Amino acid sequence: MSLNPHIHADARRDRLRARLAQDGLDAYLVSGVANVTYLTGFKGEASHLLVSKHRDILVSDARFTEQIKAECPGLETIIRPPTKKTLDMVAEAVRSIKALSIGFESQVLTVFDFESIKELLPECSWLATRDRVESQRMVKDPLEIEAIKAAIQMAQDAFINLNKLILPSHTEKNVADELERLMRSMGAQNAAFPIIVAAGANAALPHAIPSQHRIGNENLLLVDWGASSPSGYKSDLTRVLDTHAFGKKAGLSGSKDKLLEIYSVVLRAQKAAFETIKPGVKALDVDRAARQLISDAGFGDYFGHGLGHGIGLQIHEAPWFRPGSDTILEPGMVFTLEPGIYLPGWGGVRIEDNILVTSSGAQYLTGISRELEDNIIS
Ligand code: ZN
Ligand code: ZN
Repeated sequence: MSLNPHIHADARRDRLRARLAQDGLDAYLVSGVANVTYLTGFKGEASHLLVSKHRDILVSDARFTEQIKAECPGLETIIRPPTKKTLDMVAEAVRSIKALSIGFESQVLTVFDFESIKELLPECSWLATRDRVESQRMVKDPLEIEAIKAAIQMAQDAFINLNKLILPSHTEKNVADELERLMRSMGAQNAAFPIIVAAGANAALPHAIPSQHRIGNENLLLVDWGASSPSGYKSDLTRVLDTHAFGKKAGLSGSKDKLLEIYSVVLRAQKAAFETIKPGVKALDVDRAARQLISDAGFGDYFGHGLGHGIGLQIHEAPWFRPGSDTILEPGMVFTLEPGIYLPGWGGVRIEDNILVTSSGAQYLTGISRELEDNIIS
């Protein structure tokens, strides 16, 4: 398959177009930033894409004129003049293609925008659609898989370098800042999300905010980080570092036994989930495999979030791995597996990797060791 992004964007719009008849529509109005990027290659924001039977029109503003020419050559574009509102131009685009029934993204368009566009186009009927583009985005094409692999590489290389630099005197914030700097130096556009660095008991908060807390005062350090590649695709990993050597120097008591026990349960939970993955399996059954193992080990009350989520142009996207999620796995889906156990007052362990569903099973895209013995800081 070609890795030319323009050909991919054309093919993606054709797939969406093919669903128009099924929904009984003349056009889709696509407003989600990542959805517009996916269907056009345009990486800017605040724009709408109209996809219809014969014509596709991107509505944007003058900040992006040159960028659109470069990123989506050949795509029909309407640039809003400063005197007009973007929705006025969307209405103009709808009139120019003579669309009367239009599907809109009910999870994206605000109530205010929806009321406005209805007023501008009283002759049109509107259908609230959900997840048309999101469900297409669940299955990655080779170009996207390469972009995610690049984002993983940047994140991993940065993490390996970070581990050589960590000192007991560093704060959680120092570590997060340094990791972001390293990822950028490896080619990342930026961190894919605000990096989580949590030492000791702070790691009991699954979404801890890096603080001025010194990591040398604790026996473990949880790092949840990812890179956004220049193409916009993201990676998302978590490792727990064993910092007992710091703790010992700081005069902390506490044996390693607890960390070893919790870590081994979480790692086994991730492996159990991984082993269930192949095309045709439900996402909820993958979640259940990890959840059951953690529950059987006696920690069921301490794993309070879903097992994983898709990654791509967004850091959290479909498919979702949690109880009740009946998405059926297909080759090309890329997502995280991130079981965790969080014990208030003690800390937490989460192990997060990025997985690709293959034609016969699954493959880890992340390659840094998941074994605790390989993640010791001394
Ligand atoms: Zn993460
Ligand atoms: Zn995640």
